[in-house]
Amino acid sequence: MNRAHPEITCERRHVEWPVTIRSVEGRQDTRTLVGYAAVFDRPALIGSGALRFRERVARGAFAKTIQEADVRLLVNHDPNHVLARTTNGTLRLSEDETGLRVEADLDLLDHEAALWARRIERGVVNQMSFAFDVIREDWDLEADPPERTLLEVRLWDVSVVTFPAYVDTVASVRMDDRVRRVLESRGVVPSDVSEELAPEDTPWQAPSLSDFTDQPWDELSDAEKRRIAGHFAWAPEMPPERYTDLKLPHHRPEDGAVVWRGVAAAMAALFGARGGVDIPAADRWRVYEHLARHYRQFDREPPEFKEASWFPAPRAGEEPPEEAVRARLLRLRLEALERKLGIWR
Ligand SMILES: [Zn+2]
Repeated sequence: MNRAHPEITCERRHVEWPVTIRSVEGRQDTRTLVGYAAVFDRPALIGSGALRFRERVARGAFAKTIQEADVRLLVNHDPNHVLARTTNGTLRLSEDETGLRVEADLDLLDHEAALWARRIERGVVNQMSFAFDVIREDWDLEADPPERTLLEVRLWDVSVVTFPAYVDTVASVRMDDRVRRVLESRGVVPSDVSEELAPEDTPWQAPSLSDFTDQPWDELSDAEKRRIAGHFAWAPEMPPERYTDLKLPHHRPEDGAVVWRGVAAAMAALFGARGGVDIPAADRWRVYEHLARHYRQFDREPPEFKEASWFPAPRAGEEPPEEAVRARLLRLRLEALERKLGIWR
């Protein structure tokens, strides 16, 4: 990767925070810009659609980079408009309680710096932004939308910006592949194909493709693939690439009605019954919520949400999955109660 062209890979974020211009005692030819290019622990929504996530900057994220990086103060992240620079001491960056504090000496003898000092002073331009690469980050994919914490970044520049949303959009188009990879590893919980409920005692058998159509999967239209996916609780993407990628069916192929025994079997599989089901951890909660809603439609209390590892899979054929989950829950509740009451076995 060519590090001489940071704009190709870096991300940008702006902050709503006042920027001020101060005069410098005894220096008629200088004004000092003071502001924040980033504020700590203030969550912001980034991106859109499937790539939407919430992000916050952790305290300490800039500690290393402000010691090491040669950072410029730019206008709109444009390297043709440099106002100050850390290596010559005209730009001073520090972390305080609030965030990344920017202090820059603007040389009024420099025509452009003088213009921007005046514009900022008059409030024509009053926002800042920073361009960065991520060194360390933390993702909470269980959250909806997923949450990202920037733990350490490498700064490229700090900028005064005229259209913050615009620079953010430009950057999100070029967003680091890592962000896309993380978010795109999430699957989809399809919308229900139907809200109708089949009679509660309707028998259930996991459907195969031939229960839906006579055609091979590859010849189906995207709309048809989506319709079939609506019988399941999870798909890796939409439309799914293969029929076998679809997980946890619980709607009847003929008419899409919700089948209670299918819902219970899907929930049990989510909790590890019959060897469980291979669904990314980031998606388990949404799949659970989908199935729990069907439980309530049948006037059933959904089991408490837990990670799959919490439930050891019962041996095949030993107990029906729904009973296995219920029995396991009962045992765990009993154990918790015993601990509370101080009963030791
Ligand atoms: Zn459903």
